[in-house]
Amino acid sequence: MEFSLNEERFVETMQAQAEIGGTANGGLHRLALSDEDAAVRNWFYERMDRAGLEIRIDEFGNMFGRREGKRDAEPVLIGSHLDSQPYGGIYDGALGTIAALEFVRELDDRGIETERPVEIVNWTNEEGSRFQPTLQGSGVWAGALDIEEQYAATDEDGTPVEAELERIGYKGDHPAEPAADYDSYLELHIEQGPFLEANGKDVGVVTGIVGLTWGEFTFYGEANHSGATPMHHREDAMVAAADLVTQVRRIPGQLGERTVGTVGSVDVEPDSINVIPEEVSVTYGFRDPDAETLREAERRVRREAAAAAEREDVAVEHENRADATPVAFDDRCVTAVQRAADDRGYDSMEVFSGGVHDATHAAEVCDTGMVFAVSEGGKSHTEAEYTDWDDCYSAGDTLAGAALALADDGL
Ligand SMILES: [Zn+2]
Repeated sequence: MEFSLNEERFVETMQAQAEIGGTANGGLHRLALSDEDAAVRNWFYERMDRAGLEIRIDEFGNMFGRREGKRDAEPVLIGSHLDSQPYGGIYDGALGTIAALEFVRELDDRGIETERPVEIVNWTNEEGSRFQPTLQGSGVWAGALDIEEQYAATDEDGTPVEAELERIGYKGDHPAEPAADYDSYLELHIEQGPFLEANGKDVGVVTGIVGLTWGEFTFYGEANHSGATPMHHREDAMVAAADLVTQVRRIPGQLGERTVGTVGSVDVEPDSINVIPEEVSVTYGFRDPDAETLREAERRVRREAAAAAEREDVAVEHENRADATPVAFDDRCVTAVQRAADDRGYDSMEVFSGGVHDATHAAEVCDTGMVFAVSEGGKSHTEAEYTDWDDCYSAGDTLAGAALALADDGL
């Protein structure tokens, strides 16, 4: 294959970004809109500038760099995010942003003028750890989140997003909305899951992002003495809750191999070794690529909660916490990624993303696709996150091939 990225520079650029906010254990601590985020933004700005890109910073701090094409056509957008989790890894987000930069550098080195313009992007606050929610910058840009509400979001010290954007000099002048009708959006990200490694693959061709449904059940029983109350007189909220926990574990097995279900948080009142629990809240979450399967999981968990409450003679209330519709990526983008991997001799497989990405919001705006890089042991959001340079490069090179095909109207 004639077009491929410069591997040595790709690795050097990845190593250089990892030093900004790098931790002693080889991880990354670069929270959104912190001093470290400001430093990596300045570093990225300078590199976009040197690559001759026309830079725009929007009102929400999203950074865009544009390279003109032969025609004034709808641009191809590629990128990811440079912020990190607290003591996270050096690949999450950064790999996709650096791959986008290396793509335009490679076009320059080879003197290639693409048919369509190409834009690269660094989204603001993808992680959602310092400020909630996640995908904040891409969400505002896509119109899924209200900018005023997101400006007002505060960190745990009460500092709002808007003040931090101003402080670090990244509250830009451009409207936080698509500056053009985009042809397509491509994002490279580490898999953050175990499938590629387990199947011995080089890269993942992502076909979509799973949806989720989150909620909480609260069971109301009667508090009483744990020694003096006979078993048949008890209304034990904990027993009903425990029953539900095992059902959340079982429901995915009834629905399909892609469904997952988790109870991640339990709250017990009065929470004493000597008192029968009166009030127990249990959160639950299901994820699946198929919207109807998610609705079925939701129906089943409600039925099981009612049955568990009835068996224990307690009351139950339900609260919905969040719903996200699954995203199916566009065929054209999926094919572009698949062909780029095939042309370069990388062994690939189709995967569904179990986590959300900025591509979720981009998919509301234009045709979207993703490339996944292998995550060793499936670890992420920890300093132990690891992808070897060969795997980083294979995924970056696949992204570059797919982006070039789209930018040259090859698909
Ligand atoms: Zn990420």
